[in-house]
Amino acid sequence: MNFEFTDEQKLFAESVRRFALAHLEKDALTRAHNSGFPFDVAKLMSAQGLMGITIPEADGGIGGTLMDAVVAIEQIATVCPRSADVVQFGNFGPIRTFAEYATLAQKARWLTHLLTGDMVMSLGMTEPDAGSSVTELVTSARSDGSHYVINGTKVFSTFSPDAAIFLIYVRYGPGLEGIGSVIVERGTPGFTIGAPSSFMSGEQWCELHFESCRVPAENVLLGPGGFKKQISSFNVERIGNAARALALGRYAFNTARDYASTREQFGRPICEFQGLQWKFAEMAIKLEGAQLLLYRAASNADRDLPSAYETSVAKAACNQVGFEVAHESVQAMGAMGYSRETLVEYCMRRCRGWMIAGGSIEILKNRIAEHVFDRRFDQRRPKPKAQAAE
Ligand SMILES: Cc1cc2nc3c(=O)[nH]c(=O)nc-3n(C[C@H](O)[C@H](O)[C@H](O)COP(=O)(O)OP(=O)(O)OC[C@H]3O[C@@H](n4cnc5c(N)ncnc54)[C@H](O)[C@@H]3O)c2cc1C
Repeated sequence: MNFEFTDEQKLFAESVRRFALAHLEKDALTRAHNSGFPFDVAKLMSAQGLMGITIPEADGGIGGTLMDAVVAIEQIATVCPRSADVVQFGNFGPIRTFAEYATLAQKARWLTHLLTGDMVMSLGMTEPDAGSSVTELVTSARSDGSHYVINGTKVFSTFSPDAAIFLIYVRYGPGLEGIGSVIVERGTPGFTIGAPSSFMSGEQWCELHFESCRVPAENVLLGPGGFKKQISSFNVERIGNAARALALGRYAFNTARDYASTREQFGRPICEFQGLQWKFAEMAIKLEGAQLLLYRAASNADRDLPSAYETSVAKAACNQVGFEVAHESVQAMGAMGYSRETLVEYCMRRCRGWMIAGGSIEILKNRIAEHVFDRRFDQRRPKPKAQAAE
């Protein structure tokens, strides 16, 4: 067991940090409060080789590891928290599922644009009546010769105000086996994008409505039975989500530590008060522990398929720690922490959302408990006996 980065990883981390300091540090504050997808950052990152780090070179990616992508998120986020969203988008989000399962024609049409930062994609999975119980989704895709006809509504999709294409989970038929996904382009007749609503973080999302929306059969990403593949890609998404939450917690911690070293009250720097020292010690313990869980999940996933258990443990730990540390950092900075002069309050608001998105803390704990007891706990109401016997 080795807790050190390799020389290659150290060099990579250093080069990403230099890039972030040179290009992203200056506008970090304004960027965080701008709800639009930062296409300018995506283009810069593409030129720097930070988009598609884990996507094979043959597909236009870099052919690196998940750990590389985690390192990139950490280095970017600790300089410009908002820009870490671009690393997430370019390496962990729906782009990974797309790159893994798209046909050559689909890749030729869209992947290059996604990797160069010209285009962003949004994931439409959640519906008004299918959140945690996502397999209850009802958005339907009915075959109609050369097309599929889509009907349904999606909510909460990240980047939906700016996305050019949408990866939409659909139901081709009943049950788990009936679920798959299609790509829908903005502007397709029958596809309406509602007015933007805001999350607590300031990010915006739009309702997506499909009314007899005809999508060419070439736009099918995964046909019936595709759900399990999509969900296994989701374990990778969770590693990126965990990395971002932890990195924003660390950003808040670093800012609060620097503040506590120089801010004076009662004639001395506030870091000399034990009440604050212990807060920082507690935060350090939490950050270090979650960091190890994240690295274990990412580096094991690089050797084998991501483990649902390890990624659940890492995401639950990093989401909780990121939020708790950012929350305590606000407190340690008093009114300055609560104000928009720094990004500490922003980190707290962003981290809060990841405790819900991409597998809520409770749903992750359900998964962890199944590992602990080595049995499955069905979350659905048991069927009445007569029905169960059928
Ligand atoms: C910042 C953010 C970004 C998002 N981005 C996207 C996106 O890009 N695309 C997309 O499709 N969706 C997105 N979502 C939606 C997200 O996937 C859902 O919010 C999530 O699946 C939870 O669903 P819900 O909000 O409907 O909560 P519900 O499922 O209604 O749950 C409400 C509460 O009950 C708990 N709960 C539910 N079932 C159980 C159970 N069996 N055991 C214990 N507790 C349970 C939940 O953990 C939660 O605390 C995003 C959400 C957020 C906050």
